[in-house]
Amino acid sequence: MKTFAELTLSPALMRAIADLKYETPSPIQAQALPILLGSPTDFIGLAATGTGKTAAFGIPMLERIDTSRRTLQGLVLCPTRELALQVSGQINILGKHLGVRSLPIYGGAGFGDQFRGLKDGVHVVVGTPGRLIDHLERGTLKLNHLKTFILDEADEMISMGFKEDLEALLQATPREHSSIWLFSATMSKEVRRVADTYLRNPRHVQINKKEMLSNTVEQLYYPTKESNKPEVLCKLIDAAENFYGLVFCQTKVLVVDLTRYLTDRGYKVDCLHGDKDQKSRERTMQFFRDRRVSMLICTDVASRGLDVKDITHVINYSIPRELDSYVHRIGRTARSGKSGFAMSLVTPSSRGLIPRIEKMTNSRMREGRIPTRKDIGEKKIRQVLAQFNTQKSFARAAEIMGQDWKSAILAMPKEEVVARFLAMNFPEVFEDTTKHHALTGDEPHREARREHRDHRSFHRRRH
Ligand code: AMP
Repeated sequence: MKTFAELTLSPALMRAIADLKYETPSPIQAQALPILLGSPTDFIGLAATGTGKTAAFGIPMLERIDTSRRTLQGLVLCPTRELALQVSGQINILGKHLGVRSLPIYGGAGFGDQFRGLKDGVHVVVGTPGRLIDHLERGTLKLNHLKTFILDEADEMISMGFKEDLEALLQATPREHSSIWLFSATMSKEVRRVADTYLRNPRHVQINKKEMLSNTVEQLYYPTKESNKPEVLCKLIDAAENFYGLVFCQTKVLVVDLTRYLTDRGYKVDCLHGDKDQKSRERTMQFFRDRRVSMLICTDVASRGLDVKDITHVINYSIPRELDSYVHRIGRTARSGKSGFAMSLVTPSSRGLIPRIEKMTNSRMREGRIPTRKDIGEKKIRQVLAQFNTQKSFARAAEIMGQDWKSAILAMPKEEVVARFLAMNFPEVFEDTTKHHALTGDEPHREARREHRDHRSFHRRRH
């Protein structure tokens, strides 16, 4: 199947697909849609976030909804609130012209709206297992008219400890008229066990790892010592064009420390980790979407399903031990045909993971060169040129400029005038350290000393 038109979709869904500007189906959609739009069947789809799986299950789930009945007919289970909100939002867009509404239900939010929404008779609920169990036990969630039960990121739900909850929900679902569609990035033993216990003759679709990774993402790795990582990270950010990215760390503590470190150095940054409450996570996401911060430092779990458009860089502060996380992480950039960079900081002890990742993703990782101060300086000069060219208030400045200024530049070449202004604006990049160096013998120059001090304190704080 090469186009959406080849499927006999209802005009309302075709309109929604056009609204979303989806032109061609993604590989998981091309394979799953013809099956899921056919006669009812259980289903296993192995595909990660970023592959278009939400529409792959959302479209057929919506096609099966009888809008003349105000009953719950579609249920999607997600591992995190962020993913639940995102999936619910996308189902709402897809279902808009059909008149189908989806209600997100997750822990940490008040019960009031959830009670009201469920009482009104929504067609679709997208939620996290714990809170759904709560509603099931209170009798506010009724599964007896369910037609489609979707497990999204089943591997994640299980590894986050939701196995019992999701099994309780599966057991509470009458199977005469319902199908179960299980989506997972990986088929772990536990996912297999859930599938074997609850699914009946499921059809299978697997998107191989190479297809999962956008081929427009460039994967680079940077060998470095652990202690140099903060400095290398800053250089990568400084040298990037319009950096808008995610930095992944292994632990919450590291996320917090790195966020503080980058904030202290003047970067606009915020963080996502498991200890943040729902309100502050939502605020962080909004700040990031509005580009009030240009980077988020996060742990894997906190960023599950995070779907933000136009992310230019995903940086692995360290390569994840779980190689599947690598695929999840870098799937956040280079979406919808855009290009992006995945950069990994690699210590000597983790270098052995590179060939394993290359094998798993069937793609090449290139060793990157850590940008020098000269690279960063050149980039800054290039960027400032645009501002320089469009500067409007210079005539007024020239009018006010006194004789002292005029005589200062009288005999000065033009390049020197510009160079002096650049050096004034970016002292950290253009500071002349060679003289200082010559005078003080082999003592490290001031900038290096400052960096050294900053990084030392960063590492001291962490231990
Ligand atoms: P998902 O894997 O469902 O999280 O989707 C990842 C991103 O791809 C989302 O921003 C979708 O809106 C987008 N997307 C899904 N299907 C398509 C498609 N056929 N064409 C273009 N973008 C798509």
